[in-house]
Amino acid sequence: MRKGVCVILLMLGCLVLTSSCDPITETDNYVYITETGTKYHRSGCRYLDSSSIKIERSTAQAQGYEACGVCKP
Ligand SMILES: [Zn+2]
Repeated sequence: MRKGVCVILLMLGCLVLTSSCDPITETDNYVYITETGTKYHRSGCRYLDSSSIKIERSTAQAQGYEACGVCKP
């Protein structure tokens, strides 16, 4: 639970400091998977449903997920 609070505080900080906060080029390092799928996706892909789970790209690949052919993450 403490980790969750830290994440929320970090996100709030980013909202306040949008000009200076650059959270580790998030779009390049993180992808999204679903509970049932075998592919990983970019944020906003139409194949993502409400169960989209944020995960590091390297972790997704290590777990056997493949890149989505539609959003080409
Ligand atoms: Zn996709």
